[in-house]
Amino acid sequence: MDDKLETLLTRISECGFKQTGVLPTSEIGFYEEVRELCRKNSCGMYAKNWACPPSFGTVEECRQTCLEYDKIVLVNGVFALEDSFDIEGMHAAMHGFKKQMDALFVIAREIYPRCLMMSNEGCARCGACTYPNAPCRFPDRLFHPIEGYGINVYELSKKAGMNYINGKNTVTYFGAVLI
Ligand code: SF4
Repeated sequence: MDDKLETLLTRISECGFKQTGVLPTSEIGFYEEVRELCRKNSCGMYAKNWACPPSFGTVEECRQTCLEYDKIVLVNGVFALEDSFDIEGMHAAMHGFKKQMDALFVIAREIYPRCLMMSNEGCARCGACTYPNAPCRFPDRLFHPIEGYGINVYELSKKAGMNYINGKNTVTYFGAVLI
């Protein structure tokens, strides 16, 4: 492991993640079927903000972008819920994980200025997104969801030795930094 990656992995502990895994980007699988799930729009974010598809290219274009990097550092955050109907808890968890990813961004950019960040779900950084009428207000902090790239997060988490789910009454989110 080189010094820069060692520094990143040491400093990741400042962000509050549950687990971290590192894989070569050649291990990432890209699937049209995963992008198709975005199109079905069960989260209601498809074509609603600059973070979500179809704003950032085809799955093949996403694959080519990812393969410009050597490694993917995958992280997950685990949040407690009162029960499986705890919508407020899930909402708070989603934002909690985004804060963890913002903290990781600051650290990762110091070490790898050209890193590519991926996070969970869409973007809620602004009250109302400019999509599609004007450019993103914070393009530097625009983290696309991993699934939006067509990546199967379950498969990737298993390859990285990480838990995709973490027990009853919890929700787990995944993010990544490509270096
Ligand atoms: S940063 Fe603001 S403008 Fe950009 S995608 Fe997020 S909500 Fe939209």
